[in-house]
Amino acid sequence: SLQGKVALVTGSTSGIGLGIAQSLARQGASILFNGFGSADDIAKLQAETQATFGVKTAYHGADLSKVAEIEALAQFAISTFGGVDILVNNAGIQYVAPVEDFPVERWDSVIAINLSSVFHTTRLLLPGMKQRGWGRIVNIASAHGLVASAQKAAYVAAKHGVVGLTKVVALETAQLSITCNAICPGWVLTPLVQKQIDAKAAAQGISVAEASKQLLGEKQPSLQFVTPEQLGELTVFLCSDAASNVRGAAWNVDGGWVAQ
Ligand code: NAD
Repeated sequence: SLQGKVALVTGSTSGIGLGIAQSLARQGASILFNGFGSADDIAKLQAETQATFGVKTAYHGADLSKVAEIEALAQFAISTFGGVDILVNNAGIQYVAPVEDFPVERWDSVIAINLSSVFHTTRLLLPGMKQRGWGRIVNIASAHGLVASAQKAAYVAAKHGVVGLTKVVALETAQLSITCNAICPGWVLTPLVQKQIDAKAAAQGISVAEASKQLLGEKQPSLQFVTPEQLGELTVFLCSDAASNVRGAAWNVDGGWVAQ
């Protein structure tokens, strides 16, 4: 059980982050939500999580592309909960273009949100984990942290960077009761991927169902989407005592994507 633990899940108002927050709450962890969304939707999310799992929740809307806001988020975590025991770096964005046409400001924001924010939350929250003598850092990388696809220069660079950073932090905490690992999902049907499916359908004049079938067929041998729940349960395992010597792993959950 994760009773008494405090989990910060970045980008937990949607998709994978939300699934992970729910799995951690089911185990009794208090949840600090982060991510964009309407005040109403976020209040509802918090109320539902509290009612369903009987855990404390809080929310901070830091924009993770801005260092000062990440610092405010870390301060808020410390003043509200006394610190963070489980840090799940999940927030991320995608942008698709050939490298020579890749808009510079898009490169900068993908690197800032998908990679630099992981450095900032880690540097700000690791000292508290060391003080309390326990911690778990779970970075949501991607199959694109291990292999590439065309048109995704910033995303693939950022996710490979996350896998590298994960290994460094794992080494620096190797003799402590603090672990740092990455999870590398394949396709998960979230708003981030739905956008890519819709773009594919529009570009080829095919149905959304056909586009979704093609998307899986190109990369994911299982031909099934990975689910946020499956990633949530792996995160719970990585937080368990049984996983205390899983360190610096980049664990693919990808229907066979990187086995090819
Ligand atoms: P999503 O778009 O459903 O959710 C992204 C979350 O991040 C949302 O809560 C959003 O509000 C938040 N977010 C975005 N920009 C932010 C910012 N600047 N500051 C704070 N929060 C911000 O996407 P998802 O598919 O659930 O993706 C979650 C993570 O999983 C990402 O890191 C993504 O790269 C990774 N991932 C997704 C897939 C997939 O197939 N969906 C596969 C591999 C990895």
